Amino acid sequence: MKRDPRYDILFEPVKIGPVTAKNRFFQVPHCNGMGYLRPRSLAAMREMKAEGGWAVVCTEEVYIHSSSECDSMVEGRLWDDGDIPALALMTEAVHKHGSLAGIELQHAGYCSTNNFSRIPPISPSTMSVDSYAPVQSHAMNKSDIRDFRKWHRRAALRAKQAGFDLIYVYAAHSGTLLSHFLSRRINKRTDEYGGSLENRVRLFRELIEDTKDAVGDSCAVAVRFAVEEFLGPQGITADNEGRDIVEMLAELPDLWDVNISDWSMDSATSRFELEGYQEPYISFVKSLTSKPVVGVGRYTSPDSMLSLIQRGVMDMIGAARPSIADPFLPKKIEEGREDEIRECIGCNICVSGDKLSVPIRCTQNPTMGEEWRRGWHPEQIEAKKSDDGVLIVGGGPSGLECALALGQRGYRVILAEASAELGGRVSRESRLPGLAEWGRVRDYRVLMLERLANISIYRENPLSAADIIEFSAEDQFNYSHVLLATGARWRKNGMGRVHREPIPGLEKIPVFTPDDIMDGVLVPGKVVIFDDDHYYLGGVFAEKLRAEGHEVILVTPAPDVSTWTHNTLEQKKIQKKLIEIGVEIITQTELSAAATGKVELSCVFTARKTEKLCDSLLLITERTPNNELFQALDADQGSMSRAGIKSLKCIGDSFAPGTIAVAVYSGHLAAREFQSERQEEVPFMRERIQL
Ligand code: ADP
Ligand code: SF4
Repeated sequence: MKRDPRYDILFEPVKIGPVTAKNRFFQVPHCNGMGYLRPRSLAAMREMKAEGGWAVVCTEEVYIHSSSECDSMVEGRLWDDGDIPALALMTEAVHKHGSLAGIELQHAGYCSTNNFSRIPPISPSTMSVDSYAPVQSHAMNKSDIRDFRKWHRRAALRAKQAGFDLIYVYAAHSGTLLSHFLSRRINKRTDEYGGSLENRVRLFRELIEDTKDAVGDSCAVAVRFAVEEFLGPQGITADNEGRDIVEMLAELPDLWDVNISDWSMDSATSRFELEGYQEPYISFVKSLTSKPVVGVGRYTSPDSMLSLIQRGVMDMIGAARPSIADPFLPKKIEEGREDEIRECIGCNICVSGDKLSVPIRCTQNPTMGEEWRRGWHPEQIEAKKSDDGVLIVGGGPSGLECALALGQRGYRVILAEASAELGGRVSRESRLPGLAEWGRVRDYRVLMLERLANISIYRENPLSAADIIEFSAEDQFNYSHVLLATGARWRKNGMGRVHREPIPGLEKIPVFTPDDIMDGVLVPGKVVIFDDDHYYLGGVFAEKLRAEGHEVILVTPAPDVSTWTHNTLEQKKIQKKLIEIGVEIITQTELSAAATGKVELSCVFTARKTEKLCDSLLLITERTPNNELFQALDADQGSMSRAGIKSLKCIGDSFAPGTIAVAVYSGHLAAREFQSERQEEVPFMRERIQL
């Protein structure tokens, strides 16, 4: 296919100082939980972006000196020459595809944990670190500032030696030593590095000049700068100091990569922000500089990208998450296949990998993070090994992904879905407040499935065990493998982390589950939500019921609501929203029993009991896998073998209830492993410490 000529502009080369990017697609730095510990995984993941057409592919933050790390999070490291070979793996991989490799040099100042090095963090003025750790930083004196400049210069030279084409001076996310110097809230110095804006900008300017001097002959020097910190006049704001700083340094760097701060604002989820949410803040930048400008905003639509270039908002389309969800986004536009873009859903499961110090994963792209260790390619898959037909029961995220991957392998797949609608929980949950974009998990897969001639989809077909056995030999179906992707349902008895037995007294009060409400059941009166799930649904249902006019009390044994969403950068936003809409929040409290018109609560520390009056109870605790079909078929091996059914397997939530990302991954894994050799002990490669 040929690309739409309207998009030609996206494929124009862009000169960035001494180097040239082949098009306008720019994978901005993003964390990935691989970092210095897993360089082969990292190089393969970045290579996939280059292969997919991104003209610039950057690292995550790479720490430049032993006085700064953020262990136990796993980021990049360039402390000395010994770190060069690991980074060179990435630049070589990126260069193979004609793309430029960029590196984000980082010193996190007082935001460094230094848990590993045990070196006290440094900052413009002495201060407590941001976490509740009992740590205070050392205020840098002049010689410390000179040392810092020396470290940065050396890191730039090492980065050049490692093969990088573009080297960042990094002052974004409110978590860099440079952003600390810029901030009047943090920088309390009285010398020439503090006080006036000009003084606070001094180190930023010096670092850009140092870097240009060190490597500017052959490498582009980029800056990453957050023009808005959302801290009011005490912070950098787009209409005041953010603008002034860009103006002061306008022509100094070779490229401006501009965003908003902190990370939770920069990587806002779709629950809180739509595509393009950063534009109002960064749009002034291009009017102040002739240098190329890069911005982000979860852009997945080529029309939005086109408009950004045509309207002069930016010169290159920056993307972290859209490049994670679809490393081949540029290639798809280039080849006129833009409708095949696997659009990011803005869920930030990718961020959770970094937060939990494990390799990145993605809801939409199950191959993300598996490029090296499992050898998975997002656009290629092993061809089928036989002409066997496969029945998949259940068209939720797991069944859809499994059907698609098996279909792409060339297998004949029959997909049966009980309801009229495909998508399972994704379709149901995407109708809840703020989750509309999650429907993209279904939309991408349904579109791709409809293009495969070897896939037959049967909606409104709830299958029983007898049906599965009976239909297997019918000519129109003729399958010999069955994969069950039948999902899970929320428990109505309150069993979960807190209660390993049913909650007493539930028969005395109207009790509901998320499934009931998504089925359209109406909940009476004042509702108590007991959230022992701790991901998004507790907060989402509180919001939904409150919007429908209910009084809502959210009870959680955790220290804060939706506590797992710290890993998706959403927790504070969720709690803020619930407070603002008038949800009563009761934390560190269990729901110990129910009675007529009330519930009994229990303090998690003292077990002291209190009561709350209510009309109904919504339990969001745990799910039961829908594995009745599996049990019935497994118990009837005789009929199975007479019907010629050679294999039976549960996938997704029916195997083990989890996130949507887990369900998609499970479906993909089952398809990849189908009739393929599988390493029994450890089914993936590991990056071992060499002794
Ligand atoms: P997962 O997250 O594992 O994909 P979901 O709960 O999202 O699970 O999807 C399960 C899907 O399976 C639902 O759409 C449901 O209607 C369907 N399903 C469950 N049981 C059957 C069955 N016996 N026959 C056909 N479809 C089924
Ligand atoms: Fe987008 Fe979610 Fe994938 Fe992250 S995990 S890239 S937010 S779809």
